[in-house]
Amino acid sequence: MIITMKGIDKSFSTNQVLKGVDFSIEKGEMHALMGENGAGKSTLMKILAGIYQRDAGTIEVKGKAVEYEHPSEAEADGIAVIHQELNILPELTVAENLFLGKELTKNRLGWLNNKEMNRAAKESLKELGLDLDPALLAKDLSVGKQQLIEIAKALMTNAEVIIMDEPTAALTDREIDTLFEVINRLKRKDVSFIYISHRMEEIFAICDRITVLRDGHSIGTKKIEETNFDEIVSMMVGRQLGDRFPSSGTEIGEVKLTVSSLTREGEFSDVSFDVKAGEILGISGLMGAGRSELVETIFGYRRQDKGSIYLNGEKLTIKHPQDAIEKGLGFISEDRKSKGLVVDFSVGDNLNLANLKALSRYGWMLKQDEQAFYQTMVERLNIRVSDRSQSAKSLSGGNQQKVVIAKWIGIGPNLLILDEPTRGVDVGSKKEIYKIMQDLAGHGVAIIMVSSELPEIIGMSDRVAVMCEGELMKILDKDELTEENIMHYATGGEKHVRK
Ligand code: ADP
Ligand code: MG
Repeated sequence: MIITMKGIDKSFSTNQVLKGVDFSIEKGEMHALMGENGAGKSTLMKILAGIYQRDAGTIEVKGKAVEYEHPSEAEADGIAVIHQELNILPELTVAENLFLGKELTKNRLGWLNNKEMNRAAKESLKELGLDLDPALLAKDLSVGKQQLIEIAKALMTNAEVIIMDEPTAALTDREIDTLFEVINRLKRKDVSFIYISHRMEEIFAICDRITVLRDGHSIGTKKIEETNFDEIVSMMVGRQLGDRFPSSGTEIGEVKLTVSSLTREGEFSDVSFDVKAGEILGISGLMGAGRSELVETIFGYRRQDKGSIYLNGEKLTIKHPQDAIEKGLGFISEDRKSKGLVVDFSVGDNLNLANLKALSRYGWMLKQDEQAFYQTMVERLNIRVSDRSQSAKSLSGGNQQKVVIAKWIGIGPNLLILDEPTRGVDVGSKKEIYKIMQDLAGHGVAIIMVSSELPEIIGMSDRVAVMCEGELMKILDKDELTEENIMHYATGGEKHVRK
């Protein structure tokens, strides 16, 4: 074992988030750490990396007991972390990023030498199989490339253990392939990896063992060849997931939103549909079908070229998201960081950004003050947060998503648009988000959900609008919802046959 952690406890004020966790890593192993959002994965890794200090337990690294008080001590022992939030400085070059804080003046070079730095950078990038110009500015690289730069940076510290916290969430398929090639090359050099991810296929493809955390407990460690998806999922949630989609039983009311002949040149054309109170309308389609473009146009993130939008029969003029918000429209996107959440603010401040006026409409609030709203939302949505002042940044993805939803609940929405609301969210939080959606529908909110997951769209929707290449091909009723039907229209239906 290169690392053995035993009986690790950790609390944040009164909130105990790790409870006697055991975790160990072998040399050259790829070890997945899994668990629902809030299970304690990042906290455990931050303890290993010297960012947080444990309250109890022991940590052995390469056979000796350690007490890291600072990340530099862990780094000196060969432990490197690649965080969920990248540490790349956009205005610096690739080479400058690679050498940042590495105290070049202290090594044999004696001074900061750009030429030498570029050369050394080029070399270590090549070791990773990356042919990148070290003189490029970091901001001109894709997120995936930036991530690979972080890995190169870790390797330049001679890392023997590399911790990756949800690295692939922002990567394209090609970048994921490159990342995995790099990982495999390093594994052969006996570098160990701790890999935090929700992507089951990925984990089964590249990891050797999986450890599952649940509510701060270590539930168990399995060898990949001795386990399967279902077992891991039930370890994560502590229950079988037979009923993944809660049944709604909501009564569907009058038409709330009508979209008529909406068009944006080059993106989608002549789209018409309506959504009723209490209804969940799914929007399905393949990549490039124009689904996000459509809903972003309804909400005013994009300007429409043609068409009309009516809410409760009244024609709306939406030129900007603020116009939509004033009419009681809410928008939740997959990309919570740029739309919806101010990660540097506290959870409380994020919630305060919402307009609380219409809240009592749903009977969820007794007092319309901020603390009460916070309290109600945390309980109602089961947000795992220790107090109002905790920064939104420190929450897990699923919990961040719940804060965004809470914010929109605060405006008392007529209509809520959700664009891939559960992407990157673990199975348990997914189910909670589904429940919240149905709860809102039950209170008469009309809901539009864009989703690429067929089981999700079929499980949650009352009707599904299927798009293909910017055209609304078909609206399927509940009893017509099968994967085959949706795929038939998503791939163009009779459209291409007719041509
Ligand atoms: P995971 O990475 O498994 O999603 P985390 O380790 O991020 O989980 O969080 C575990 C719990 O610890 C959560 O309830 C989270 O709110 C809490 N937590 C994490 N970091 C902090 C912090 N800096 N202050 C207070 N609570 C925290
Ligand atoms: Mg985490």
